[in-house]
Amino acid sequence: MSKLTTVRPLIAGNWKMNGLTAALDEARAVAAGVETDPPGARVAIFPPATLIHRMADALAGQTVAVGGQDCRPEVSGAFTGDTSAEMLADAGATMVIVGHSERRGGYGETDALVLAKAQAALRAGLEPIVCVGESLEQRDAGRAIEVITGQLRASLPVDALKGEAFAVAYEPVWAIGTGRTPTLNDIEAAHDALRTVLIELFSDQGAGVPILYGGSVNPKNAADILSQKEVGGVLVGGASLKAADFLAIAARA
Ligand code: PEP
Repeated sequence: MSKLTTVRPLIAGNWKMNGLTAALDEARAVAAGVETDPPGARVAIFPPATLIHRMADALAGQTVAVGGQDCRPEVSGAFTGDTSAEMLADAGATMVIVGHSERRGGYGETDALVLAKAQAALRAGLEPIVCVGESLEQRDAGRAIEVITGQLRASLPVDALKGEAFAVAYEPVWAIGTGRTPTLNDIEAAHDALRTVLIELFSDQGAGVPILYGGSVNPKNAADILSQKEVGGVLVGGASLKAADFLAIAARA
């Protein structure tokens, strides 16, 4: 760990809609790698909902956490195809991603809905990772900081989060799955702005909330990104699908 911090960085792997039973071997390999070569980081995998229960069983007693990629705010009900935070927890998840840009963009999820999902996560005892990120048009218009700080303020259930573990992920939409990343200066500027909001909303607690960077993180760029002062971890999509790549990223923390 190259930075002075009391909070261990979080290395989170978002498998998205990838992974059948055989992929549990990748999760086992991640857990084994973390056991033998422990990074100075927390490591978590967010598989598709169909694998959560079996992955949680497969990794029981090990240090790699399992999380959901999304949840619905309600506890239960007539919501065909959806999964509640309680169901994720019941399946063995301890964390959940809310407000990923593929949900905000693909399903029209608003900040208010993301806030309700984060609240549901807390109700179920899950640690939420609340995602924010600007589009390319917004960045080109010079509005990136305004957009992400606005999303953050409107997506956090502040009273419910006081004293609770949670993380924020800054994921520029144009960097997800594209191989493009912002400059290190741009990452740091975004994280600084998000940190300022967190401290304003949560005082001392806000200084310790991990702010993850996400968007085309790979074993080559991870060390530089993780060395930025306000980067408290990474949210990794494509490069989390292979245990060797994901472990190489975790080793940079
Ligand atoms: C993501 O899905 O959150 C992500 C950052 O994807 P990728 O690493 O593939 O850009």
